[in-house]
Amino acid sequence: ATNGERTCTKPLPSPSPLRNAKFFGANMRILVTGGAGFIGSHLVDRLMENEKNEVIVADNYFTGSKDNLKKWIGHPRFELIRHDVTEPLLVEVDQIFHLACPASPIFYKHNPIKTMKTNMIGTMNMLGLAKRVGARILLTSTSEVYGDPLIHPQVESYWGNVNPNGVRSCYDEGKRVAETLMFDYHRQHGVEIRIARVFNTYGPRMNIDDGRVVSNFIAQAIWHEPLTVQSPGTQTRSFCYVSDMVDGLIRLMQGDNTGPINIGNPGEFTMLQLAENVKEVINPKVEIKMVENTPDDPRQRKPDISKAKELLGWEPKVKLRDGLPLMEEDFRTRLGVPRN
Ligand code: NAD
Ligand code: UDP
Ligand code: UDP
Repeated sequence: ATNGERTCTKPLPSPSPLRNAKFFGANMRILVTGGAGFIGSHLVDRLMENEKNEVIVADNYFTGSKDNLKKWIGHPRFELIRHDVTEPLLVEVDQIFHLACPASPIFYKHNPIKTMKTNMIGTMNMLGLAKRVGARILLTSTSEVYGDPLIHPQVESYWGNVNPNGVRSCYDEGKRVAETLMFDYHRQHGVEIRIARVFNTYGPRMNIDDGRVVSNFIAQAIWHEPLTVQSPGTQTRSFCYVSDMVDGLIRLMQGDNTGPINIGNPGEFTMLQLAENVKEVINPKVEIKMVENTPDDPRQRKPDISKAKELLGWEPKVKLRDGLPLMEEDFRTRLGVPRN
């Protein structure tokens, strides 16, 4: 066979014969749910660079867009499917990176019941798929499973401090349920699982109206609008550049550890410090304005990444001050506002 398809009539190996029908030259078929989104599209870029990989993206375009994947549309090793993960999906793959879920608070709060369905039913469907075809599945869980954490920095063994019925719960509790499902399919059905606890990530291709703090500040600095620091401004976050994140996710998928493993940058900043950094790097004349916060906002967040260092040999390389200008450049291009 020249096209990579099986022609022999011998009994096909379990679990799924169709997994062998790969594009010529490729030996790994990878599904990325949420692959049209911010982290997903950068992950797809990295996976597509390897000629041994065939990549299928399933995305409903709620917060993602085809634009993020335009350089791969039409490529013989790439397929893009408009699909909502709350519906069953039949494909034959070796690995599943399961990212589908809105990540920005304004979007996951927009339709909280749908967010919960995406996390529960969507994750169950992807696990059912992984079980049927014998694929390894990685879930992008979140630092939000720690809620408003009572220990600092957060280690994976910490069970968290999460409000079960607040406005953020659809996301926090949704991801906690998703983690539970992952481990239950692993223990009960032997599915090979990987869980990444992703901390705040930033970089090119974030939606400009995404509502998250780094994208807000950069757009505001470019437009000469005041940087909106939500009170008290002393709350902290740790920001990981997207190329480091993608690196961590791929290492986790390839390694032998189920996780959960924190993937994030331990550099911790208050929101006021972040605003000062954006001001210095992008627009020294811009003002900083205090505005009201939203309910249940975690007061501090910083990953303990000892496990990622030890088990994956991973640690982030890009510092905030180096990542911000890369994101600024992308925002300026998309907004059509050149630096002068
Ligand atoms: P994003 O919103 O840019 O991407 C999510 C993608 O999933 C989008 O393309 C969206 O259209 C798609 N999607 C949403 N619901 C879907 C559904 N029901 N069916 C199919 N597709 C669906 O977000 P992101 O920042 O790229 O986040 C990716 C993953 O990483 C998410 O699982 C998120 O929870 C997790 N995460 C991200 C961060 C972060 O700081 N960016 C932090 C923690 C966890
Ligand atoms: N599923 C899917 N694709 C598959 C196999 C299963 O989307 O290739 C879905 C299936 O529709 C079900 C879910 O995954 O809703 C869980 O599957 P599982 O086999 O664990 O459960 P069951 O079908 O027995 O309820
Ligand atoms: N925040 C802010 N200004 C904004 C948007 C967010 O000060 O314009 C703060 C918000 O109160 C929170 C932090 O930035 O403390 C991170 O918020 P984001 O929505 O980016 O992500 P989260 O970590 O809450 O999911």
